[in-house]
Amino acid sequence: MTLFQFLWSFIRRHRRNYVLAAMMLVSISVLTVWIPRQVGYLIDQLASHQADASVLIRELGWLLLAGITIYFLRVGWRIQLFTASYQLGVELRTRLYQKLCLQSGAFFDQQKTGDLMAMGTNDADAIELAAGEAALAGFDGSVTFGLVIGMMLTGVDWRLALAALLPFPLMAFAFRRITHHVHDASKASLDSFSALNEQVQESLAGVRTIRALGLEQRNAEQFSALASAARESSYQAQRWEAAYEPAVGLSLTVAGFMTLATGGWLVWQHEITIGALTSFSMYLGQLIWPMFAAGWVLALLERGKAAWKRLEPILNAELQVKDNGTLTTLPAPALSMQHLQFTYPSQQTPALQDLSLEIRAGQTIGIAGPTGAGKSTLVRLLLRQYEVQQGQILWGGQALSSYQLDALRKQLNWVAQEPFLFSASVAENIALAAPGASQAQIERAATLASVHEDILRFPQGYQTPVGERGITLSGGQRQRVAIARALLTDSALLILDDALSAVDTATETQILQHLRHLRQQHPSRTMIIISHRLSALAEADQILVMKNGKIHEQGNHDSLLQQDGWYASQWRYQQLEASLDAA
Ligand code: ATP
Repeated sequence: MTLFQFLWSFIRRHRRNYVLAAMMLVSISVLTVWIPRQVGYLIDQLASHQADASVLIRELGWLLLAGITIYFLRVGWRIQLFTASYQLGVELRTRLYQKLCLQSGAFFDQQKTGDLMAMGTNDADAIELAAGEAALAGFDGSVTFGLVIGMMLTGVDWRLALAALLPFPLMAFAFRRITHHVHDASKASLDSFSALNEQVQESLAGVRTIRALGLEQRNAEQFSALASAARESSYQAQRWEAAYEPAVGLSLTVAGFMTLATGGWLVWQHEITIGALTSFSMYLGQLIWPMFAAGWVLALLERGKAAWKRLEPILNAELQVKDNGTLTTLPAPALSMQHLQFTYPSQQTPALQDLSLEIRAGQTIGIAGPTGAGKSTLVRLLLRQYEVQQGQILWGGQALSSYQLDALRKQLNWVAQEPFLFSASVAENIALAAPGASQAQIERAATLASVHEDILRFPQGYQTPVGERGITLSGGQRQRVAIARALLTDSALLILDDALSAVDTATETQILQHLRHLRQQHPSRTMIIISHRLSALAEADQILVMKNGKIHEQGNHDSLLQQDGWYASQWRYQQLEASLDAA
């Protein structure tokens, strides 16, 4: 879809605003063109002493009324047009936001946050301007231009009109060349604003790391370089946009010269009156706006087109994880993973290779293995953050994709190693997925996650704000708040992806005890625990050791110790470490 098709479909939906604005603009143009004709007529009447005082007062009264009407019509079209174009901004941003919310992991792996933010602000603004100011100036300028040219050709003298319009084809040629440069410069300017945005976003998110590593100076220099590049590209865009004005000015000066020369000669030859020449000169003056409007419209449209070129691929990007499933009810979570193979789009080597696994409903599965073994990747496929490339995952005998995404995700509770807390109170963060939860339910979930006591020590208890991304909490507190959040909702499959890594061993044991107790109350619930600390997995029904995307060892704690492989040696090492710590 091109920018024009997009704008046209919007204008059609909001045609009432646009038609009313257009009618007002046409009325303004008609009145504006009528004024010089009236002035010319009045001058000729006065020059030939045919107008007395009452005629003069009456004609001036009409001119005044026309001026006042133009004023109110101008207010009217602005209200109509800008109401619509601001609505376009809202619709565009909402569409972008909804699209981003539906996109999956692979999409965000390829996009930069700062870039996406720039699209929602700068690029959307540029398209909004194309739908508002450019639509207005384009329409108004064209109508005024048509009427004025019509009046010049038919109302005064066609020879004078042709002579005056002689420089305009040259101006059109100059416009064509400038427009080409404006497009490229606008695109470069939007790109460099995005790069600047990305730098700001990343620096602010990582400001503590930058400070800890003493990188402030280097970061400031990088920012300064990007800001200079953004300034330079904006300057270039403005420079090319400004190039329309001299082209218009020069053409109008030549047109004025031609008018005086040809018009003077025609008056001298008594072919036209001085009043007619005055009217013609006023018409020429009225061409100033359509000419400048043309330059302005072209600049706005080129900027809009450049923004649309950036935004359109995001708005129309295909969803990599499709929500085509029809099943809405999920049975107990018995999972079957068959010959899974997965490679991240940016990688050469597969993160998962021919991985098969059966999990019965109600089982607790532990997953261990060295870093980069593919543990989290397995979870991401289960969560449908990425689509399975080869093999399949079945839930209750049905492919994951046959369930509606919303229904599936309601039955999945995932706690990541670095959970995301929102800038709200502790209670609101725990009740994120269950906003109607009572205080007692929130406190129960916090108790199960062994974070209740910590929360009571906070200055405002459960109402304490956690700051952006939960910055005022410790890593362990953040993880436990996230576990409480997961336990508050009633889902069938709980996944802890290294979610206890920042918690001390005693607290970890306490939380795992609570989880085991919960499982006894709801025996069909399944739990997957990924952990580097093997003590967290020892009680699991089945433990997998993953290496290089494959299952390397499999069994329960005792059988894995007997196998005397990676698990057994890690276990011994961690036990020794724990006893040394205790000593
Ligand atoms: P850890 O214990 O450190 O969390 P893991 O076993 O969970 O590691 P994964 O996160 O599943 O490992 O990563 C498996 C492989 O896939 C790694 O080689 C990693 O570099 C790669 N990988 C992970 N996420 C992405 C991504 N978004 N894009 C590209 N490659 C990725």
